[in-house]
Amino acid sequence: MTASGVIEGRHLIDGQWVPGSPAFESLSVRDGSVLCQAPTADAAVVDHAVRAARRAFDESGWKERRAADRACVLLELGRRLDDAAEEISRLVATEMGKPYRITLEREVRGAADKFRYYAGAARAMQGQVTGASPAHILDITVPHPVGVCALIIPWNDPVDLAVRKIGAALAVGCTVVVKPSEETPASTQALIRLFDGLPGLPDGVVNMVHGPGDPTGQALVTHPDVDKVSFTGSTQTGRAIMASAASTLKRLSLECGGKAPCLVFEDCYLDKALDALSYGAFLYGGQSCTAATRIIVQRPLYEQFLAELTRRAQAMPAGDPLDPATLIGPMVSQRQVDRVRAFLDQADAEGSTIVTGGTVDGLHIAPTIVTGLRPDSTLATSEIFGPVVCVFAADGEDEAIAIANGVRYGLGASVWTADVSRALRVSRRIAAGDVWINTHYIRQSETPFGGWKESGIGRELGLAGMQEYLAYQRVAFDTTPDFHLKTWFESQA
Ligand code: NAD
Repeated sequence: MTASGVIEGRHLIDGQWVPGSPAFESLSVRDGSVLCQAPTADAAVVDHAVRAARRAFDESGWKERRAADRACVLLELGRRLDDAAEEISRLVATEMGKPYRITLEREVRGAADKFRYYAGAARAMQGQVTGASPAHILDITVPHPVGVCALIIPWNDPVDLAVRKIGAALAVGCTVVVKPSEETPASTQALIRLFDGLPGLPDGVVNMVHGPGDPTGQALVTHPDVDKVSFTGSTQTGRAIMASAASTLKRLSLECGGKAPCLVFEDCYLDKALDALSYGAFLYGGQSCTAATRIIVQRPLYEQFLAELTRRAQAMPAGDPLDPATLIGPMVSQRQVDRVRAFLDQADAEGSTIVTGGTVDGLHIAPTIVTGLRPDSTLATSEIFGPVVCVFAADGEDEAIAIANGVRYGLGASVWTADVSRALRVSRRIAAGDVWINTHYIRQSETPFGGWKESGIGRELGLAGMQEYLAYQRVAFDTTPDFHLKTWFESQA
């Protein structure tokens, strides 16, 4: 913290907090004051951090330890994050606008749980022995940590999304260089501060560099000593990272954008569907990759559903993110407001109707419902990342599914019906990695999450999330004194 109360961003390299000239800043969404000033890591600073991570991977003994020892480090991190949860949540709410109560209970305490989950998961890491070999051969598959991992974080869950990656990577013995979003340097740095003096953690296992995609992110994803990149952010950036990482053929996990369809059938539990989808669409300004952005309602229910959804949208408590009553805070930045507004400006051109909302006041955008759109229009197919939901009417399952699958994203989706057979039939036909039935936004540390289509590659959370940080090595023993090919060749003669 500087004398003026501004948080000083520093890089963490090899256990040292390294200062640099302030290059960019984040602002308080509450009053526009400067919250944090951070330096930008250029290629030389990134190289320094990657070399520290490489040395720690090769020489610190971290990867050779018992998983149970690494689990103790993760359990302590969970405890520290819980202890600091209120303070960090206030910071996240002030820096990115997510309401405090949601930040505290869902993001930060949820992240502490993920450290604990990965502490347990570390000890469940398994290899294999095939039972199909001849008796004199032992053929085993051994899990290894993949190496040095670059972890690139967006701004919308600046603590939780970092923990998913760090927890899984550390559990298996990898070392990491974390790059926070340039919109939320203070929030992710507050998490990384918890590693200071952590018993059992060698210097260089966890490093962090600040800076934007260019040059900092680019330097990380092209560095020859980075073995894996795990990225969460927009599909556009994911594509650029995939192209850059191709030159050194890095392993990649990409958690990208979404445009979640929600299929509402006339036999649904109506009040629950309305509650869930109004929260799903508008909670913290729709700045979630699985926000309910396209609601597809069976025609007999359409008018009633739209009227009730409009009533709920207008009643949702919006305001100061630190007020415990707030469900919708401000957008993260003026840039994000301008982006959402540019989409709304297209609404007219695309012949749609704004039923409610569409207004902007500072960083606040009113919950907005749009109807009358063609399902293939720009507004209906692009990720807006704001409190904007498109509502469609559909006749029957086939039409609803065609609308649902008619975008290039495939991340979250929900299905609303009391008919169990229909729920399963429809969910199996939706091209998305995460489908909820009669709910929205349930997520657990134990279950894998990730996208299909252009929403991403790979999984986070659950054991599948840990696999992303493993490289398997096959080791075959032949216990006989003779070389099998020679024996075979001679037997043919
Ligand atoms: P973004 O793509 O603009 O940036 C994400 C991160 O990538 C930032 O740290 C940024 O600095 C970095 N970056 C940008 N260009 C880069 C480059 N060329 N090389 C390396 N790094 C680069 O995304 P954002 O605006 O911060 O976040 C919002 C997006 O994240 C939305 O699209 C949302 O759907 C997505 N998201 C996805 C998930 C998921 O799990 N699938 C979760 C949360 C958010």
